Amino acid sequence: MLLSPTLQKILCKKSIHKYYFKEWSSHLFDRLRVQFGGKCVVCGQLWELEFAHVKPTGLNGDGRGRKERYYDIKNHPDCYALMCTKDHKEFDKISQELKAEWLTKNAKFLQKI
Ligand SMILES: [Zn+2]
Repeated sequence: MLLSPTLQKILCKKSIHKYYFKEWSSHLFDRLRVQFGGKCVVCGQLWELEFAHVKPTGLNGDGRGRKERYYDIKNHPDCYALMCTKDHKEFDKISQELKAEWLTKNAKFLQKI
């Protein structure tokens, strides 16, 4: 089915916005990664890095957007640590009350922000 010209216009604007938002947010996330030391706090890996929740910030579960996530990390840097996907997966298996202890033992690249 063909879309009406109006709908085409709306969809087009939306995808343009989506594209620029993606560009913009990946730039912001790059800056955050640099701020966080640019490497996995556990093994020092420089690629496939993610922000792991060290302390709860209230931003959890599905449906959290990229923008919300960005501001949450920026506003609560002490609640996050940069980790490679492998270590992040391991870290998420640890119960909340043992996370701090685990980090003290394993995060040799952890720096205060
Ligand atoms: Zn790692």
